[in-house]
Amino acid sequence: MDVHAQEGQGHGDGISVNGDGAREAADETRLRRQAAVAAVVLGLIIVAVAAFSTPWHLLASGPPDPARDFTAAQIARAEAFDTATTVPSYLSLALTLVIAGLLVATPLGAKAVRWLKGPWWVRVVLGVVVITVIVELLKLPLGIWFETTLRGYGLSTQDWGSWAGDRLKNIGVETFLLCLMLLVLMALARRIRRWWIPAAAGAFVLTVAMSFIYPVVFEPLFNDFTPMRQGALRVSLLSMAQRDGVPVEDVLIADASRRTTALNAYVSGFGATRRIVVYDTLLKAPMREVELVVAHELGHAKHNDVLYGTFVGALGAALGAMLLFLVFEPVRRRTGVTSIGDPRAVGAIMGLMTIGSLIMGPAQNLVSRHIEARADLHALDLTRDPATFIAMQKRLAVTNVSDLSPDAVEYVLYASHPSTPERIAMARAWATLNGVPVQ
Ligand SMILES: [Zn+2]
Repeated sequence: MDVHAQEGQGHGDGISVNGDGAREAADETRLRRQAAVAAVVLGLIIVAVAAFSTPWHLLASGPPDPARDFTAAQIARAEAFDTATTVPSYLSLALTLVIAGLLVATPLGAKAVRWLKGPWWVRVVLGVVVITVIVELLKLPLGIWFETTLRGYGLSTQDWGSWAGDRLKNIGVETFLLCLMLLVLMALARRIRRWWIPAAAGAFVLTVAMSFIYPVVFEPLFNDFTPMRQGALRVSLLSMAQRDGVPVEDVLIADASRRTTALNAYVSGFGATRRIVVYDTLLKAPMREVELVVAHELGHAKHNDVLYGTFVGALGAALGAMLLFLVFEPVRRRTGVTSIGDPRAVGAIMGLMTIGSLIMGPAQNLVSRHIEARADLHALDLTRDPATFIAMQKRLAVTNVSDLSPDAVEYVLYASHPSTPERIAMARAWATLNGVPVQ
């Protein structure tokens, strides 16, 4: 074990072998205390950054009221879809938790990769592949169930071949990134006692780098992107961006219709890789509504929401590396691996990462909902057209079969955006405040 590196210091000072053992234990305690203090400090920094930079109070709005803007049939359809997807979603969450629990608290994960041979780094890569294949096979029936439900509501345009291709590409990308992370992490842990320091720095850098290159390296694996063709819409969008003081060279169109009928747009990357992407499915909507969608995205660009999210996410990843150092000892004992540098530990680390991201989900959603509301407000300020904003929100909700009245648990666990009735209520509040008429 790596503690041997420190043994030399104890020689020649007359302390017995037992004394060495006691000193090693004290040394270990000191190392853990340092990591714990660093983790608490970083945790407080993250909470402070999120607390001070999240736009908590934007605009007091009336209560959300789906019945005001949606027909009884639309509300019933949304509720039926919600009911149909709730079961596979919660089953998937439960399965994820059970698998992560087994990987972290039992030797099953270590046993699954015990038979692998070769140098440690080969066993790490193969171990990640083996565990991923097992987990994905367990989750496959739920994935098929979910996709079948989407098709039943006309939301998916894929056949099983392209659906499976997408899923495999996704798994490929995730496996690649996971291997990269674990190889670096284990290489550090096998050489350095205070590996949490370089691991935390590495996690920060990797998160920033991934967010930066994601739009140009990974997104093209899933979609083709083409510049919006010349025409009135393009001219109007670019002039709106200019008016907004957001430098946008192009609006890209993603061929989302190969996968879905849903309407969406997003901003990804930052600096040189920043892009505003509109789903091709959205181009059938009236021009004014597309402008409202892009005005929302300009709000994200103007406030550097991707860069901010990346920064906080990178701090979170660094904290994750510190927590991994702190919690690994009991996990090591329960899973029967020798150390975090043991290639059989891949399952336990994957389980801990899954649990960490599940715990962080609700906090991320809470912050995200406020950032989304700020982008909505930006769209209203920029276009001064709440009537079209509401029309656009209605079109998105009806086409995407959005949940119009999410219950508290769904809202906390899954809602990255305010609900459509909340967004519409804010548009009405904006209209009242600014004296712009709206129905
Ligand atoms: Zn948004």
